[in-house]
Amino acid sequence: MTYDDNNIFAKILRGEIPCDKVYEDDHVLAFRDIQPQTKVHVLVIPKGAYVSFADFSAQASEAEITGFFRAAGKIAKDLGIEGDGYRVLANTGVHGHQEVPHFHLHLFGGQPLGRMIK
Ligand code: C5P
Repeated sequence: MTYDDNNIFAKILRGEIPCDKVYEDDHVLAFRDIQPQTKVHVLVIPKGAYVSFADFSAQASEAEITGFFRAAGKIAKDLGIEGDGYRVLANTGVHGHQEVPHFHLHLFGGQPLGRMIK
């Protein structure tokens, strides 16, 4: 799938739309979900243009992949949700019900979670 430069997360990365930022580095931006499903609900996105987890895992450099997942773990720790546990989710494609076509991880936490969410 071709990357759409006008997707909402691309606009957030360019600063055209505001976000409630919790973390940023060379490879990664993380911000609170605008419609939180749990007490803590943060989205972690790479700065590179990847449509989905499938594209990111296949096309991103090792530095991007390592930086991304290390940052995601650090963000969860810094949010204070590591101790009691949390959930990491990447909706992918049509069956995965992915709405925004820029790869993102959801971090859900801050409360007991059911067996599934979303
Ligand atoms: O379904 P998908 O994994 O693509 O979820 C996209 C998420 O992006 C939704 O949880 C939605 O609330 C969030 N979102 C956001 N800020 C926006 C637009 C969408 O946090 N401006």
